[in-house]
Amino acid sequence: MACFTAECGSSRSTFSGGMVSRASSATAHELGASLGILCSMKIRIVSSSVDSASSEKHFAASYVVNGQVAFDAGTIGFMSSIDDQRRIQHLFLSHGHMDHVASLPIFLDNVYQQGSDPVTIYAPQDTLDCLQSDIFNERLWPDLVRLSQEVSPFMHLSPIAAGETVMACGLRVTSLPLDHVVTTFGYIINDGTGSIAIVSDTQPLDSIWTTLNQVADLKALLLECAFPNRMASLAAKSKHLIPTSFAEGCRQLKRAIPIIAVHIKPVYRDEILNELADLGIPQLVIGVPSTEFEF
Ligand SMILES: [Zn+2]
Ligand SMILES: [Zn+2]
Repeated sequence: MACFTAECGSSRSTFSGGMVSRASSATAHELGASLGILCSMKIRIVSSSVDSASSEKHFAASYVVNGQVAFDAGTIGFMSSIDDQRRIQHLFLSHGHMDHVASLPIFLDNVYQQGSDPVTIYAPQDTLDCLQSDIFNERLWPDLVRLSQEVSPFMHLSPIAAGETVMACGLRVTSLPLDHVVTTFGYIINDGTGSIAIVSDTQPLDSIWTTLNQVADLKALLLECAFPNRMASLAAKSKHLIPTSFAEGCRQLKRAIPIIAVHIKPVYRDEILNELADLGIPQLVIGVPSTEFEF
């Protein structure tokens, strides 16, 4: 089934020869989608600011591909359009940290419709265990796992193993083990015409680059850069990247593709952007919430 999403009103960017340009008219994707042909992927960085959709600050993480497949639930439950939330049929979680699951209970409340197929949540088994013990435990939130067995389900939980590929709305999604303080997966998303990868959260790990260099049709990479260089010690202890390790990773990637910096902690944003700029990383793009990229 081809994925299709209507315009969501967010800003959009299209890559052409490595350059970013604003697209204001119908795109090849929309034309193809209207003909039932999927010809490119659209990935949106969901806004995480409740009082300013245009804020550049990235407080929590969610990315939505073609309107129907979400990656992380930091903010999808706060999207203003309930219709946009209900269009999401599959949700892949990287791990259980709050900036990646904060809006999950609200999202499940918003999209719940008795008698209809619920969203499928894919995540490492450790993350699913964490959801059940730490969120859906009746204390922090009702036990939607138990309720899903007793009434029309709120969700399907589907563990995904390291390196496993699943199909979701016509996309082939493959998990990519990262190195964070809990079990964490990045994801490689392929629509049959190319792939994009989301890598967050992680400390430097050679196998990431080995794997990504084997993805022949990789078109873009979203890569975290959480802390400035002066906080290298905290970044190492909490297993995140800083601009120098971000740049080292980029150097290991053998493809000249856009590398979109995401998960930039808002309080250090200016400092991190200056350090990234000083490193002269080719194809660097700063991932701004509410932006939609098309590849
Ligand atoms: Zn984390
Ligand atoms: Zn995080």
